[in-house]
This record gives sequence, C-alpha cells and structure tokens, in this order.
Amino acid sequence: MKPKQIIILIGGPGSGKGTQAELLAKKMGIQVLSPGTILRKAIEKKTVIGKKAAPYIKKGILVPDDIVSSLVIKRIAKIRKGIILDGFPRNQVQVKLLGDYLKNQNTKNLVIEVAIPLRTAIKRISGRLTCNNCGESYHVEYKPPRRKNICDQCGKRLIVRSDSKEKVVKTRWQIYRYETKPIADYYKQNRHYLYRKVDGTKDIETVFESVYNIVKKEND
Ligand code: AMP
Repeated sequence: MKPKQIIILIGGPGSGKGTQAELLAKKMGIQVLSPGTILRKAIEKKTVIGKKAAPYIKKGILVPDDIVSSLVIKRIAKIRKGIILDGFPRNQVQVKLLGDYLKNQNTKNLVIEVAIPLRTAIKRISGRLTCNNCGESYHVEYKPPRRKNICDQCGKRLIVRSDSKEKVVKTRWQIYRYETKPIADYYKQNRHYLYRKVDGTKDIETVFESVYNIVKKEND
C-alpha cells in the first residue's frame, strides 16, 4: 500500500506556515491539522478543552501537551491520504509522542521549516486577520480579504487574534526559539524524516513555490 504523506510545517509566529499549509492542502487535496485553529474554535464554543486552553493561548504560551496531543493523534489516526501538520509538534514531548505513533504506521514524513526573523514576524502579525471558522488567515496589507473583515472561503466574520499583541508575540517567539526550533535540529538528523528549509520572508506565492517544489520533488 502507498504510504500516507505526513507534512510537518515548522515556523515561528508570523512565519506564514498556516497560509502555506492551507495552500498546500488545496493543491494536494489533503487536510490541514492545526491545533491552534482547533483550540481557538473550542474557546469560542466554550467547550471544556476551550476553557482549559484559553489562558495559555492568551499569554502566548504552549497549551499542556496532554490536551494537544490527544486531540492531534486522534485526528491523524483517521486520515486516508495524507495530512499537513500546522503547529504540531512544538516541543520535544510532542515530537516523541508523534514519533511513537508514526513508528507503526506506513507514512512518508516530510518536515519543512519556514524561516523568518523576529522583526518580520512582528510586522506581519500586526495587521493579521483570522477566520475562526475555517482557519484561513489574511493580512490587511499583504493579503486582504475581498470583502472587509469577511472570510473569502466561508463568509464568516474575521477576527484579530487575542495573541497578536506585540508583547504576546515576543513571548510566542521566545517559546518558538527555545522549545520548537530545536526540534528542527532533531528532524535534520533523524533518518525517518526528510527535513527541508524555505525562506519565509518572501511573498506568499514565492514561498509557496518553494514549498510545493519540495513536496513535488519528494513525491516524483
Ligand atoms: P498557532 O495558531 O499555531 O499560532 O497557535 C496558537 C496558540 O495555540 C499557540 O501559541 C499555543 O498557545 C497553542 N498551540 C497551538 N499548537 C500547539 C501545540 N502543538 N502545543 C501546545 N500549544 C499549542
């Protein structure tokens, strides 16, 4: 049987990995799994998980591993063709959990790091608009929606994320630097994963071209 494609996107806040994940999913006809989007929806709906996750997200720190991991692994188990992981794993514990799960699966694992510096992240995040319903993201300057504050994809109202304030972005950046970035080094050295890096400072289409070229090449 053909292995399922697992694509792990790694990138700091504002790197555009969410946008790239959505573009890639459309092009490849596979799903995106974004814990951030799932958690924001849960917060809006005031579910038990949403209530637990809210204070962490607001501060820009990671939600406890047990909450996020069970949510993610449950969903990966259901996929047929492949999946794009946008925001998981984000630390060593999650890398181990995912690795343990994938060990017994027939998958092809590709890791793509979308790299940007902090100053670009702050510029991009101020001005970002997000759809809480379908996860699509916009930017008032770089990627405006066709109708003001309305999602092009699903017609729902766009929001400014509560973790978009400069102070919170800096916290999220520190967490990325010390907890998530080191996992890129782990993947670089692990023969079960193919690791690639793209320059995330370019415009959306250019970054996507790089991302898609990598995926295409690995699937040829
Ligand atoms: P994102 O939409 O990927 O930028 O994630 C937004 C926020 O959701 C993060 O700052 C975390 O608080 C939480 N979150 C998303 N993914 C994870 C994860 N894998 N582990 C823990 N917390 C997460």
